[in-house]
Amino acid sequence: MKKENNNSLIRLDSLSKHYGTLTVLDKIDLDIKAGEVLAIIGPSGSGKSTLLRCVNYLERPDGGTITIGPTTINAARPVSREELSGLRRRVGMVFQSFNLFPHMSVLRNVSLPQERVLGRKRAEADERSLQLLSRVGLADKASQFPVRCSGGQQQRIAIARALALEPEVMLFDEPTSALDPELGLEVLAVMRALADSGMTMIVVTHEMGFAENVSDTVMIMADGRIVEKGPSAQVMRNPQHERTQRFLRAVH
Ligand code: ADP
Ligand code: MG
Repeated sequence: MKKENNNSLIRLDSLSKHYGTLTVLDKIDLDIKAGEVLAIIGPSGSGKSTLLRCVNYLERPDGGTITIGPTTINAARPVSREELSGLRRRVGMVFQSFNLFPHMSVLRNVSLPQERVLGRKRAEADERSLQLLSRVGLADKASQFPVRCSGGQQQRIAIARALALEPEVMLFDEPTSALDPELGLEVLAVMRALADSGMTMIVVTHEMGFAENVSDTVMIMADGRIVEKGPSAQVMRNPQHERTQRFLRAVH
């Protein structure tokens, strides 16, 4: 029997994914509380991106369940359009490559999804977009095109765009990996402010400072499994597993 946790916002039970004979996610169990910031670290190829992509069904898991709030999606059953759009609406995602629409202004990048997904009117969507752009420090870029923005600015726009759909949880897949360190810092500052505001976040990252100082919980993945998971200070400073110690030695 699994222990029920009323506080849990997202729960994965035995989530599995294979590519052919390769097991990429090996029955992952995970419980994330509302407001929790979870950092996922681990070697390349360990399944971190696949895990995030399965949580919002960009990849279809082939076993297990995903529970977000009151909704459970079972990978063994067909998923309805409504379930899928409900899941996507509740889960925002930010990728390593910012994926902005190059032919639209910064403002339009943030407001169009609100019209499409939430059915907001243009004026309301634009107003909300401006609020979010100021929150990420970019209100003055609203009428620019993304190409005129630095990588760090583009990633902050991508964060504003995801937040505009009022998600309950935000997933980040190595959001600073494509950036120069200096530009990464401005993205990390926005993410820290988001964490402080109480957003529930799952962040795949190579930023050990973020894992140790911003996240509540750190989880180490290797070979599609959770090697170790616990309070961030404990895992980062006093890892219990040899595999974690080896990984942390390699990146420090
Ligand atoms: P990470 O993000 O930790 O680097 P990934 O989740 O991207 O790891 O990949 C985990 C494993 O799954 C790797 O061995 C990778 O080669 C494999 N993989 C990922 N996507 C696919 C795919 N679409 N087809 C086949 N293999 C894939
Ligand atoms: Mg990855």
